[in-house]
Amino acid sequence: MSDDITERLKLALPPLGASRLQSMKVADGVVTTVLDVAGLDRLERDRLEVAVKDALRGEAGVSEVRVAMMADKPARKIVAVGSGKGGVGKSTLAANLAVALARTGRKVGLVDADIYGPSQARLLATEGSRPTATPDKKLVPVESPWGVPVLSMAHLTEPGQAIAWRGPMAGNALSQMVDADWGEAEILIVDLPPGTGDVQLTMLQRFKPTGALIVSTPQDLALMDATRAIGLFDQGNVPIIGMVENMAGYACPHCGEVSDPFGTGGAQAAASTMGHAFLGRIPLDIAIRQDSDAGNPSAAGEGPQAEAFAEIAQRIATWLDNQGGVPA
Ligand code: ADP
Repeated sequence: MSDDITERLKLALPPLGASRLQSMKVADGVVTTVLDVAGLDRLERDRLEVAVKDALRGEAGVSEVRVAMMADKPARKIVAVGSGKGGVGKSTLAANLAVALARTGRKVGLVDADIYGPSQARLLATEGSRPTATPDKKLVPVESPWGVPVLSMAHLTEPGQAIAWRGPMAGNALSQMVDADWGEAEILIVDLPPGTGDVQLTMLQRFKPTGALIVSTPQDLALMDATRAIGLFDQGNVPIIGMVENMAGYACPHCGEVSDPFGTGGAQAAASTMGHAFLGRIPLDIAIRQDSDAGNPSAAGEGPQAEAFAEIAQRIATWLDNQGGVPA
């Protein structure tokens, strides 16, 4: 009898609901459906839930509709962190934003794709660690003390060893790191090499990031370079999450007050001219450099530095929540 009702109710489902139905139970007028929502973003999931509830509530004998959702595979989102040139603090930002995102309870992994100048092993205090491998030969990332697993060329080579690889080998090394066994990670932050060369483009084409962050300093030249970096992502059809201005103003090491010897607002103005979001500014702050050198990211601590990273991380998280991801 209940089976008849179930079959009738299945027919009432909207097409997307029917194709994603895992199970349906009916008891005392209460319908419980389980839907597979893998790959759908939050908005699509909400719409589906409403559509299923509306469709079934109109049926005879139904007093309540419950919708449970499961996604067998987490949708992993890749965030590329790029800059037009080196030395603007791209790696520092990538490490701190990964830690700040992890502090919001998200599972985050970090790939150091800057293969010719890897710095993430030092930034996350994992120098000297070596990744292991799964039986099917995938790399298993190195655990850092900050709750963010990480993979860097520095974990795969001897300290100080010069890396003089040509493009294709570099591309393969990157692929192995992105394709590693990232476990539960929902977000993978990829610290790209500076500039807009072939390695970057290959990387973007092979693993299309969900979105990109552009790091720039307030100086005009760096901003021009940032514009080029945006061009690279446009070419790869990667949406820009927004721009972050680093070394923006100078934080006094004694009182913490931020002064602006070069003026403010350059990156913000550039972002708005280009129609991109401005995610925030991080001052030039000796504490950030000292924390970085010590492998103790400022974002893991307390105080104005950690707060500044947390605010930017929150904006990124909100952006990601409204985007779909690629299957993990
Ligand atoms: P990139 O990855 O763009 O080459 P890095 O992240 O390696 O740049 O940063 C370059 C140097 O600047 C490092 O010594 C780093 O500690 C320092 N640095 C980066 N951002 C800041 C900041 N906001 N305040 C102080 N020092 C910083």
